[in-house]
Amino acid sequence: MSTGQGTSLRRYQRVLLKLSGGAFVHAGERGISMVEVDAIARQIERAAQSGVQLAIVIGGGNILRGAQFTAASSSVQEATAHYMGMLATVINGLALQDALESLGCQTRLSSAIRMDGVAEPYIRRRVRRHLEKGRIVILACGTGSPFVTTDTAAAQRALELEADILLKATRVDGVYSDDPEKNPHAVLYSELSYQAVREQNLRVMDPTAIAHCMEHDMPILVFNYRREGNIVRAVQGERVGTLICSQVPVPR
Ligand code: UDP
Repeated sequence: MSTGQGTSLRRYQRVLLKLSGGAFVHAGERGISMVEVDAIARQIERAAQSGVQLAIVIGGGNILRGAQFTAASSSVQEATAHYMGMLATVINGLALQDALESLGCQTRLSSAIRMDGVAEPYIRRRVRRHLEKGRIVILACGTGSPFVTTDTAAAQRALELEADILLKATRVDGVYSDDPEKNPHAVLYSELSYQAVREQNLRVMDPTAIAHCMEHDMPILVFNYRREGNIVRAVQGERVGTLICSQVPVPR
């Protein structure tokens, strides 16, 4: 789907943006902060103005993660807990939808679990049609199945919607060799191969998501959405953050 414009700037036609629930709240807090949601919506609106087709998979970790309930002492079954986590993504989706529409964006909220009163059911061909018409599509409820995360959903949707790239928005500048907050010598990679991410156990996305992308050669850009303008830069193909793709030398 992309039209090459040299190595430093590729214009994407369709991108899949993965936003974790953490983007909907102040650092270290839980719940939803509309100050944060509005700030990210403003960046998304500017990105959409560039003409790129934008599908967004949203997480729910600011509200609930299935793993919270996996202790044997919990009376909530593990699968139930994951369904609860998926429902949390719908709450975030509704907040983001209204924030984007208040800025004049056309949006659709599409849910992998049927919830007719608040969202459309996820139908791949329908979502593609919305994207072609310039609507921003927010994808809620992950894959619709328990025991995985919204990272895996992002990889899956990027593939089936034939996005040019999966943009993984994070709170750090990209992928480091080590935790930059603990190790001042940690190196920020500009490019990495999928293989290197797996072999070095780098914490980027969950391993299933990386495996999906690797198998189908879906590039991933890990970048810091908190730097103003970075979402626009990322969708315009500017080299921010860390690009994960095939055929990059394994770093030593
Ligand atoms: N989840 C799931 N299946 C999916 C996507 C998500 O069961 O396809 C559940 C899982 O329990 C997960 C929770 O929903 O912890 C919230 O998603 P996630 O943790 O990926 O949110 P994020 O960390 O991106 O905010």
